[in-house]
Amino acid sequence: MSIRIAVDLGGTHIRAASYRREETRPLKRQKIKTRSRDESIFERLVHLIEQVIPENETLDAIGIAAPGPLDPRTGIIIETPNIQEWKNFPLVEKLSSHFGCPVYLGNDANLAALGEWRYGAGQGHDHLLYLTISTGVGGGVVSDGHLLEGRQGLAAELGHVTVLADGPVCSCGRRGHLEALSSGTAIAKYVEGQLKDRSTVSSLRSGAKRTAESIAQAAREGDPLAISAYQRRANKKPFLGEHKCPIFPVQKGAR
Ligand SMILES: [Zn+2]
Repeated sequence: MSIRIAVDLGGTHIRAASYRREETRPLKRQKIKTRSRDESIFERLVHLIEQVIPENETLDAIGIAAPGPLDPRTGIIIETPNIQEWKNFPLVEKLSSHFGCPVYLGNDANLAALGEWRYGAGQGHDHLLYLTISTGVGGGVVSDGHLLEGRQGLAAELGHVTVLADGPVCSCGRRGHLEALSSGTAIAKYVEGQLKDRSTVSSLRSGAKRTAESIAQAAREGDPLAISAYQRRANKKPFLGEHKCPIFPVQKGAR
């Protein structure tokens, strides 16, 4: 029988899993660190894919999700955070000539939106807005049943929408983007900045590693600094409110 492989290419880990058509339960899956001294990242990726192909199965296709910028049409990784050696890297061509099957490449947040629309919360809807909030803020949009990709897969980069003109500097170098205010990294950075003022009272001062998770826990326990970090974040997202979103206006009752 035939299978498909899905790969999530991250800066820290690469994950791969094999599936039958239209099934969401993996047959085999594996996760490795992206970097190693012994092999190139491409060699590690090839070995990882080989490991998740079950015996006596034919490989139909491979889908790769990677952080942008990349070109989904040509299958070239233009540049990717944490894999600096991959500049204009023809990933699709190299993998398809190695495995002899079609290979597809897409922006990770866009493909997450597509997966959620097809198999998750978006099933049965024509329009979907997807946000992933972790180290950064990523976004994806399905409009009228089509994934919005744009040039170099950069459509719906919602983390890089300006929400505060003179706000903090974003990972992309510009100021006041949603990611610079609302990502896990931004929340931890805000708290670190506030703690430099010795008069700030907070239970977080004694904590070892301050992450968005530990700050959220402190906020639940009533710590005023932790609460202010999340309130600040909430206050800076007015465009996400109903009827105020300039990116993806949805009328009540629309599916
Ligand atoms: Zn940005």
